[in-house]
Amino acid sequence: MGFDEIKGQDRAIKILRQVINNKHLAHAYLFHGPDGVGKKKASITFAKALNCTDFEDDVCDICVSCRKINQCIHPDVTLIQTEKGEIKIGEIRNIIKGMIYKPLEAKNRIVIVDESERFNLSASNAFLKTLEEPPADTVIILVSSNPDMLPQTVLSRCHRIAFSNIPTRTLTDILIEKNGLTPVAADHIANLANGSVSKALSLSSEEVQGIRMDILSVLSGKGNVKGNLFDLAEQYSKDEKIFYEALDWIYTYFRDIIMMKVQSDLNLIINRDFYDHMISLKEKISLETLLDIIEYIKSVYKGQERNMNRQLALDVLGIKIMRSIA
Ligand SMILES: [Zn+2]
Repeated sequence: MGFDEIKGQDRAIKILRQVINNKHLAHAYLFHGPDGVGKKKASITFAKALNCTDFEDDVCDICVSCRKINQCIHPDVTLIQTEKGEIKIGEIRNIIKGMIYKPLEAKNRIVIVDESERFNLSASNAFLKTLEEPPADTVIILVSSNPDMLPQTVLSRCHRIAFSNIPTRTLTDILIEKNGLTPVAADHIANLANGSVSKALSLSSEEVQGIRMDILSVLSGKGNVKGNLFDLAEQYSKDEKIFYEALDWIYTYFRDIIMMKVQSDLNLIINRDFYDHMISLKEKISLETLLDIIEYIKSVYKGQERNMNRQLALDVLGIKIMRSIA
């Protein structure tokens, strides 16, 4: 998987290729930009390209080095990542210990730290020393979508490579190519994904599309709205990820009606396939009530960080919605 596979980041990729061709490697890089736009993928591709024995400034995926990196068994290429936790001092100490030796197989030892803003304080202090006196032959790549959370002392020692939001058109092409969506469906989801490939791919999954159809059909009054709304609340509050997906779709639905009220540009409507129903609600619900629903949803997003009861949150939302369309 070479640089060609990283779509919509031509500028960043051009710089990385220049770095490889000019052999002017910095000791530390910061790959920064929004979530889900290919930063981590680019860091791994960069690591492969720096060590590929077949290609100068790209990746062959066939040589021993490329294959070992693909299988995460290369002794000189380390990827540190964490599942929603902190990056702890112990992990960092082990990596730093290994850095006193010369790389075993690679031209350059590469240490990639994904979501590097998750360094805890002592880990970040330990890492800072390494950044100040970097071992020869070692390249450190910090990946972050929240670089402002990293200490200034760390940031100032990194060479920055900026990644940007992926253009909607490019996302549409990716969805058609990878997930076999129709152009209309792909365009629809690409518009929702806010420039993020991972968001676009997750939105287009069957599971998420199923939740969307359930939610929007109920809101559009197909069947017993009241009963169905509370059944869905029970069903969707069990799992955190599903809960947020359901909440996201309720949000987009009422956000769409607000957009229809304040202006008539169809391109700004996310759930165009429910246009007919939304247009009838547009007259029925006041702007004030719509804004109240949106504000409540926002407060649920915030409340979840403080462990609010998910089912209760959806039930209250259901009552608000029932009142607004009654
Ligand atoms: Zn190779």
